[in-house]
Amino acid sequence: MSNVIVPDGVRLILATHNEGKVNEFRQILTPLIPDFDPSSVVSAKGLGVEEPVEDGTSFAANALIKAQALCKATGLPAIADDSGLCVDILGGAPGIFSARWCGHHGDDEANLSLLLNQLADIVDPHRGAHFMCAAALALPEGEPVVCQAQMVGRLVTVPEGDNGFGYDPIFVPASEDAPGGQGRTTAQMSSDEKNAISHRGQALRMLSEYVAAVFVPQPE
Ligand code: IMP
Repeated sequence: MSNVIVPDGVRLILATHNEGKVNEFRQILTPLIPDFDPSSVVSAKGLGVEEPVEDGTSFAANALIKAQALCKATGLPAIADDSGLCVDILGGAPGIFSARWCGHHGDDEANLSLLLNQLADIVDPHRGAHFMCAAALALPEGEPVVCQAQMVGRLVTVPEGDNGFGYDPIFVPASEDAPGGQGRTTAQMSSDEKNAISHRGQALRMLSEYVAAVFVPQPE
């Protein structure tokens, strides 16, 4: 039973309070769905849905927890993503703790500064890392779907760039190290450039194949 009032015409809810992510997802869906109406996709923000406790032990588990809670609360298909940075020399940490690595939630500057200090003695060949993203679609009826993707790269010692968020100023994707690459961090890229190669962009594009089915008109 849903307990949230959802505006008419809404077909899909995104478990985010970040309008940037909503726009990104609308952009991905537009070419995939004939006559796509951007207003049919809204975020959980403003619907007054409480966020569930993210007590999963993997990105996929946490994405599913968020998507399923939102689907249950609204009675509509819901999407959630969960992402983080996995550093090779730290055995995959911060991983699911990326947003709260410094001890409290969502302090990007403190998280980045702590990680840089922890890696201060680690030389370049051992500074490999990847971003991971799990994107989940929960449906009122039927099995949920989870798609995962990663963006592989390395961590530099000095932050560069003002775009993006989180650990972007110290992450150089492998494609930037390939011949022709400029060795830029993801904070030195435009959002379009980053979305084209990012863990989140890839996972959402994979998931959008399943999401498109939500928009297929049902016979009367
Ligand atoms: P969430 O999936 O939005 O909860 O993000 C988890 C945390 O992982 C963020 O707070 C960032 O610290 C980190 N993170 C995830 N994706 C990115 C990214 O694309 N760039 C930089 N940091 C990221």
